[in-house]
Amino acid sequence: MRLILLGPPGAGKGTQSARIVERLGVPQLSTGDMLRAAVAAGTPIGLKAKDVMASGGLVSDEIVVGIVADRIEEADARKGFILDGFPRTVPQARALDTMLREKNLQLDAVIELKVDENALVERIATRVADTLARGEPVRKDDNPEAFKTRLVAYREQTAPLSEYYAQKGLLRVLDGMQPIDEVTAAIARILQTEAA
Ligand code: AMP
Repeated sequence: MRLILLGPPGAGKGTQSARIVERLGVPQLSTGDMLRAAVAAGTPIGLKAKDVMASGGLVSDEIVVGIVADRIEEADARKGFILDGFPRTVPQARALDTMLREKNLQLDAVIELKVDENALVERIATRVADTLARGEPVRKDDNPEAFKTRLVAYREQTAPLSEYYAQKGLLRVLDGMQPIDEVTAAIARILQTEAA
């Protein structure tokens, strides 16, 4: 199963991906996690990505596409994967199409979590509070200024992907404002249909 989870920051992509991982046994490929690891390790990619990530902007398509191309070559991704946070631009979506075509692979579905933007700010505040309560460091881009930039990036560069995948007949839209378990159940129903 090859899935994409689409949705603005704070929509629940990470939470739902983790649940799908358990269900399907395929890895979650989060470009945000991979980039944060590169920043933490101080790799050349991390050094390039660090400031733009902290400000809430998007890392270049070239860097992100390169990371994903390498990652889907790994053994655990052979059976499938859940892409969380990628693609985020139409050029990234096109690059993904090319990568998959070259491997004779196809996407099964693109699931968009639709959420009310006003609720997102509150969700991010909750994420920060939960992280602090666990004694973990807070993400540098989970602050009001960077969050605003992330939302603008989503609206301007990522939202057009809904139309891109709708035209391919792959888009499934879910109400991401429902309780977490209900969103998970709705995703499970989509996966069942796709697997049938
Ligand atoms: P995320 O964890 O998905 O919210 O991503 C955190 C940050 O990493 C984003 O705000 C971007 O700066 C960067 N990032 C993650 N995925 C991508 C992507 N597909 N394209 C460009 N930048 C990305």
